[in-house]
Amino acid sequence: MGLSLDRMALDDVGANPARIAGAIHNQLKDVKGAVPVFEVAMALDILDIRIEPLTTFEGALVTTAERGEGSILLNKNASRQRQRFTAGHELLHFLSPIHRPTSEDGFWCSRADMTERRLDAQDLHQRQEAEANVFAIELLAPRSYIKPYLRRAPSLGAVMEMASSLDISKEAAARRYVECHGETLAVVFSRNGRVLYFDVARDFPRLALGKGMSLPKLTGGSDETPLGAMEEVPSDDWLSTPSGVEMEAQTLQQQNGYAMTLLHVLADEDDEDMGIEDAYDRFTRSRS
Ligand SMILES: [Zn+2]
Repeated sequence: MGLSLDRMALDDVGANPARIAGAIHNQLKDVKGAVPVFEVAMALDILDIRIEPLTTFEGALVTTAERGEGSILLNKNASRQRQRFTAGHELLHFLSPIHRPTSEDGFWCSRADMTERRLDAQDLHQRQEAEANVFAIELLAPRSYIKPYLRRAPSLGAVMEMASSLDISKEAAARRYVECHGETLAVVFSRNGRVLYFDVARDFPRLALGKGMSLPKLTGGSDETPLGAMEEVPSDDWLSTPSGVEMEAQTLQQQNGYAMTLLHVLADEDDEDMGIEDAYDRFTRSRS
């Protein structure tokens, strides 16, 4: 038995991608863990999901301007977790009342489109891609599902658990984690020690990094133990204006030279919401 969802009910929520995802979750009440995104799409007038080898594109939605029905195409060369994200992404192109096809037969989305973040971009295509990404992560990792991971102190261990229980990529999980965790976090994605891109929490200080730059010396993470420990790092290696900020970092080495580094800026000493225990900890530490 497939899922049964009411597409008409989604029309009432408007064009906000997070609200559309929320309206789907309202209908998916009993689902726990990995969201069955393919079944969700099929229950909302997607006729088929084809997985084929693609080179320039990561996914596509083949449809008409009216979007009465559609087909989703996913890249066979991508992992299942990436395919799931892409399916969610394509589904918003299908559901959003304000998205406009960017080609004659629908929407064709590249690998770069899957990380587009500029919701306020002037360019319609970029804006649509950014919205599709918001929708995909809200659908696959809703805040209510990830709460348990956010209650603990920041760590890539929690990111890895989150990725496996929700069946999303570690990259997508890390970005969602940084976005939703209450602490001041950033995640830097790199390959062979050079920055690919990074994602920062709203209140994270300006990073002294740019695409292609070498990373500061990484803390731990090796072939034998891919996940390093969370360790204190000098903030002037990482920040534009470090001004005595205390920082820690943890690195996960992945395959083919890829790595991700979680950065955590510790609260200031005069931070108002710092608890008494923290203050005591800090006091004793500074004397030792
Ligand atoms: Zn797209």
